[in-house]
Amino acid sequence: MKKSGLITLLAFAMLLGCKSQVSQTQNDSPQLQHSTIPPREYSIAAVLWQQHSGEYRALAYQAFNLAKMQLDLLLANNEMRGKPLAIVTDIDETILDNSPYSGKQIELQEDYVPERWTEWVNEKKAKPVPGALEFFKYAKSRGVEVFYISNRTVDQEKATLENMRAVGFPYSNSEYMLLADETSRKGKRRATVEETHEIIMLIGDNLSDFSTVFENRSTEDRNTSVDSLKAVFGNRYIVLPNAIYGDWETKGILEGKYDWTKFQKDSIRKRKVISY
Ligand SMILES: [Mg+2]
Repeated sequence: MKKSGLITLLAFAMLLGCKSQVSQTQNDSPQLQHSTIPPREYSIAAVLWQQHSGEYRALAYQAFNLAKMQLDLLLANNEMRGKPLAIVTDIDETILDNSPYSGKQIELQEDYVPERWTEWVNEKKAKPVPGALEFFKYAKSRGVEVFYISNRTVDQEKATLENMRAVGFPYSNSEYMLLADETSRKGKRRATVEETHEIIMLIGDNLSDFSTVFENRSTEDRNTSVDSLKAVFGNRYIVLPNAIYGDWETKGILEGKYDWTKFQKDSIRKRKVISY
């Protein structure tokens, strides 16, 4: 083959290669381009943080150290009150660490599936959040009762109590356990405790663990309410960190809608990241 013929052939082959690349990109639908997004990929950093960072542990200790200080202060100033004193606490990511469940979701690249959550609950392997056990044992030693208000479901009570008893939480029995029945909203269950006890402190990782004012609200509304109640945090309300999940995501970032596709969720998350 003559040199000029070879050059022409090479140029033609390069052109074909370029054309093939262009047409492949043009034919990819947005769905195909996103089809490789693993549904829990975005949560890997948060799960690693909860499982491995000293900072997570330090924040948990800080929360319970603060709770103890406030409890001591309250009891020192306690005038004879009519009702026995109680602390109301959430369970998940407040006293029990469920990050291995989130790890399993990442391993399987699986969004929330009720059966998977039940599988984890029935394993009864959740470990205490750092500082939680010591604090609740201390509260009991000071004569303060502890009520567990959780959105675990009633059918998960037995496994939950067995898990809590195995690691040593006080008041781990049905009388002190108010699980989700007809609603995940906790106000009614707090009112039930208030019928017989004076609630002196609430502990949780989700704003709805504290007050109905935070429930079903947008990010902006939640943040405005937090700002307006800033004096109560670290005082009557003790907050644990949870960057993996919570109303901040479902009600805030995802705007309370549960039927987004995974592509829409990915797009919303990226759109809401604040840059400069
Ligand atoms: Mg929780």
